[in-house]
Amino acid sequence: MNIDPIELAAQLADVVDGQILTDAPLAPFTSYKIGGPTAVWVAPDTKVGVGHALEVINEKKAPLFILGRGSNLLISDQGWDGVTLYLGENFSNWTFDHSQAKVLAGTLLMDLIRAAVKKGLSGLELLAGIPGGVGGALRMNAGAFGQEIEQVTVSVSGFRPDGTPFSADRHKINFDYRRVPELQKVVITSALFQFTEADTGTLRTRMKDILALRAVKQPLDYPSCGSVFKRPAGYYAGALIEETGLKGKRIGGAMISRKHAGFILNADNAKAVDVYALIQLIEARVLDRFGVRLEREVKLIGKF
Ligand SMILES: Cc1cc2nc3c(=O)[nH]c(=O)nc-3n(C[C@H](O)[C@H](O)[C@H](O)COP(=O)(O)OP(=O)(O)OC[C@H]3O[C@@H](n4cnc5c(N)ncnc54)[C@H](O)[C@@H]3O)c2cc1C
Repeated sequence: MNIDPIELAAQLADVVDGQILTDAPLAPFTSYKIGGPTAVWVAPDTKVGVGHALEVINEKKAPLFILGRGSNLLISDQGWDGVTLYLGENFSNWTFDHSQAKVLAGTLLMDLIRAAVKKGLSGLELLAGIPGGVGGALRMNAGAFGQEIEQVTVSVSGFRPDGTPFSADRHKINFDYRRVPELQKVVITSALFQFTEADTGTLRTRMKDILALRAVKQPLDYPSCGSVFKRPAGYYAGALIEETGLKGKRIGGAMISRKHAGFILNADNAKAVDVYALIQLIEARVLDRFGVRLEREVKLIGKF
């Protein structure tokens, strides 16, 4: 980064209400529990603060990384030499108006799903167990068991990287499989969701079944980022990896799960380079054996 982190933090503190730090650890904010520190950390308390923070970051040309609940990330052991804009716990709230909910981006999906189910509102219950936040889920078009967040999305609000407001209705957003081009550069601060009315008991049972199914299929006893790779057309990444014989393969503290080969686990104080080495090994083996080029779902942050 071209600018002194302490100077930049002071400039942010002038215009943003919220937590501002330098040389702050990122690993505790990721599901992997891996990665070095960020040069500058800013966690605004308000939407106005997010806009002001972006104006400063843009003016200083500081590299920006938006951190949600950190469940789809592999952060470099050297960390992030720029500003991390955190929209997580500090930016979590929702209000229901009949069958619609206005939700702040840092809200845990699971909190929103529980609140909706309690009100007898259907639309996201099959996403139960996804550990991310609403902003990250929109950015990734998170989904499971045939349900994706796009199906309940009415509109998305936030800012462009220069701090100017952004707002888009669902029909202006192309939600693709784990990819949303229109949301790739924006900072999402909130979204409006439309649910449908349903029986609370039925929804609760459905949610419980999904959580049980996840516990059976997924290695949830070790830190991970979920599936490392997207599902290639016509295949399952996990099945392809399993057939290369790489299940259980370890590099350093990282291990390819024996339960679900699409998961790379932090089995024992893994470094980001350990996980990255396994990612590269899998990609090379699957390409060699099946001619399939796996696409990463996990986002790599910092230098690798
Ligand atoms: C055990 C486990 C199981 C999982 N199962 C699933 C699954 O079934 N289906 C699925 O889709 N995913 C799954 N995931 C992956 C992950 O939970 C989702 O991708 C989730 O939606 C990411 O949200 P997050 O808040 O953690 O985002 P982060 O990991 O913090 O960030 C992910 C990306 O979104 C960006 N981002 C985050 N917040 C914002 C914001 N407010 N504005 C703009 N950009 C933002 C980040 O910059 C980054 O590029 C799983 C992960 C784990 C660990």
